[in-house]
Amino acid sequence: MAEDAVGPDEPAGLPGRPRPGQLTFTAPRRGRPPQHLADLDPSERRAALEALGHKGFRAKQLSTHYFERLTVDPEAMTDLPKAIRAELVAALLPPLLTPVRVLTADGGATVKTLWRLHDGALVESVLMHYPRRTTICISSQAGCGMNCPFCATGQAGLTRNLSTAEIVEQVLGAARELRDRHVPVALPGDGADLGGEAAAGGEAALGGETDLGGEADDDPEPGARGEPAAYGHSRISNVVFMGMGEALANYRAAIGAIRRLVDPAPDGLGMSARGVTMSTVGLVPAIDRLAAEGIPVTLALSLHAPDDELREELVPINTRWKVDDALDAAHRYFQVTGRRVSIEYALIRDVNDQAWRADLLGDKLTARGRGWVHVNPIPLNPTPGSRWTASRAGVEQQFVERLRAHGIPTTVRDTRGSDIDGACGQLAAATG
Ligand code: SAH
Repeated sequence: MAEDAVGPDEPAGLPGRPRPGQLTFTAPRRGRPPQHLADLDPSERRAALEALGHKGFRAKQLSTHYFERLTVDPEAMTDLPKAIRAELVAALLPPLLTPVRVLTADGGATVKTLWRLHDGALVESVLMHYPRRTTICISSQAGCGMNCPFCATGQAGLTRNLSTAEIVEQVLGAARELRDRHVPVALPGDGADLGGEAAAGGEAALGGETDLGGEADDDPEPGARGEPAAYGHSRISNVVFMGMGEALANYRAAIGAIRRLVDPAPDGLGMSARGVTMSTVGLVPAIDRLAAEGIPVTLALSLHAPDDELREELVPINTRWKVDDALDAAHRYFQVTGRRVSIEYALIRDVNDQAWRADLLGDKLTARGRGWVHVNPIPLNPTPGSRWTASRAGVEQQFVERLRAHGIPTTVRDTRGSDIDGACGQLAAATG
């Protein structure tokens, strides 16, 4: 683990801690972040340029610098008249995120960044290098209002929603880093001479576990070709909305960010929609709305229990939408988009890891059809003050085997970054 202090910390105005089970949907209003190119779609960008008294086509030039060349440096924008570069950058590409601290784990393969936003609010993102892909786990809110008792983020409450550009900048910030630095990373399980064929072997060495964003298997991997394998990929292939926040509770900003990620360059980053994963506690109307957007991102449903009684305790949103409501919505998502849905299931010792719960989950999933879903059990990551721990290895294995016996593809998620509080459910943006 390494720590680089890169700036002074300022505590954000923190919300009060929520009572157990209390849900918060409306984020406190704070001063808006500065306007940014990534908040706008292409026609809004042209309008913004014209409102500043410039030619509309400058919008495309700026977009090319931002999304394609990954630069916000006015000096590098040589196709723009020198006299207006600084003005345009100040107006449409202001810095939104300031790195406060960078922590690395897993031999450099996992990098967690704590960012400070314009108003002092803090969020974290986690970059994970895998043999065949590079995944960034991003935050959509500072804090979270969903209050799941096993998740550190939920315990601190919701500070505020992020803007579209604040979400996008987490990805672009990492993309710029990757391009500029080419940090060599020793990937877990890799041989020294890891090449194309061996890469698959390296992944198998993870013991049949799955990695975040690992569903884009058969996509051509940007940046993977012709690079020394001992180095991380130079581009981000997967983005998962699994950092701080419930993105579907910040719908407009989240869908804007998704569009910026998948729109072809130079309007956006040109990523494959299947490389983007939206994770949710199960906000049913928002799942349907997402399905109707026509962008087939991968959906992950944080279920954690197949029965309402337990799920009510683990995922308080279950008081609004029951297990069956959430599973029906997930199944509709599959029907509309054709994308196989992930069910997230944090395995908590003696709480939700019983064989009968695996059977009940298997029954509920197969009752809705076959081939539409797979399950990602996640060994519970420890969080401060929690009485819960991860399931015993044998119990975890039994849970997995039971699900597989129902014909449900099941892969245990790896737990990257747990020693830097960078794993699922550990992002609390603590500066101490
Ligand atoms: N609000 C979104 C994103 C949250 S984080 C959602 O709930 O899906 C992504 C995943 O990590 C979720 O499935 C979440 O339930 C899970 N998670 C939260 N705390 C965890 C913990 N302590 N250990 C393991 N997984 C956890």
